[in-house]
Amino acid sequence: MIPTIGMVADVTMRKNSFADYITDDVSEAIKKAGGLPIIFPTSDSKYAEDFLSKCDGMAFLGGPDVDPTLYDEEPIPELGYTYRQKDELELELVRQAYAAGKAIFGICRGIQVINVGLGGTVYQDFPSQSDRKVLKHFQAAPLSVTSHHVNVMAGSHLEKIMGDYPMVNSHHHEAVKDLGNDLKVTARAADDCVEAIESMNSDQLLAAQWHPECLYTKYPEHDALFTDFVNRVKKRMQDVDAV
Ligand code: MN
Repeated sequence: MIPTIGMVADVTMRKNSFADYITDDVSEAIKKAGGLPIIFPTSDSKYAEDFLSKCDGMAFLGGPDVDPTLYDEEPIPELGYTYRQKDELELELVRQAYAAGKAIFGICRGIQVINVGLGGTVYQDFPSQSDRKVLKHFQAAPLSVTSHHVNVMAGSHLEKIMGDYPMVNSHHHEAVKDLGNDLKVTARAADDCVEAIESMNSDQLLAAQWHPECLYTKYPEHDALFTDFVNRVKKRMQDVDAV
């Protein structure tokens, strides 16, 4: 069976309602890698368990800032817009998917959601909160091109996929601050900004601060992130079947 990849839709505002949507770049990248995307609208977090039961793996995608009160901070003026119900649903999905041993992939906001879900914190606005001079993490060019390098940790799973010094695109002002439980940093930009995290002692979880779904058609090393993810999902399905 084709592995099912769960993801929570982003939300836009219509005249009389919210509209849940997903951009086709990420669903096409997942399909090309051999997975079947299943899109879930923002809903009460009580539905997390039932949604997760339909998904072999979970991807957490780009979207609004994470509500800082969910990691015990009050909002600073530089914070962007937030959507608490989506946060609560995704944080619950992170916790349950991780506990269930399902493979997890995070993109942009996804790295924040995963980190907070596992007990970490994020910079609400890295450029103003970092104590160093920061890089341009909100590139002016389209996201279909890369703009800064990342230093990948030797021996990490990410190094096997992308090498030790790949270029990435950049479209974020939040960044991982204190790490959540059982996570390690596996890539940083030159200003120390966390650009990728992984689970400590397994390949269950990998999250990137950039947007590989905007790069995968032109850059094989970004396409490889999706292939790796779907392979991790398949491997864990077999492990579950073998029990
Ligand atoms: Mn960046």
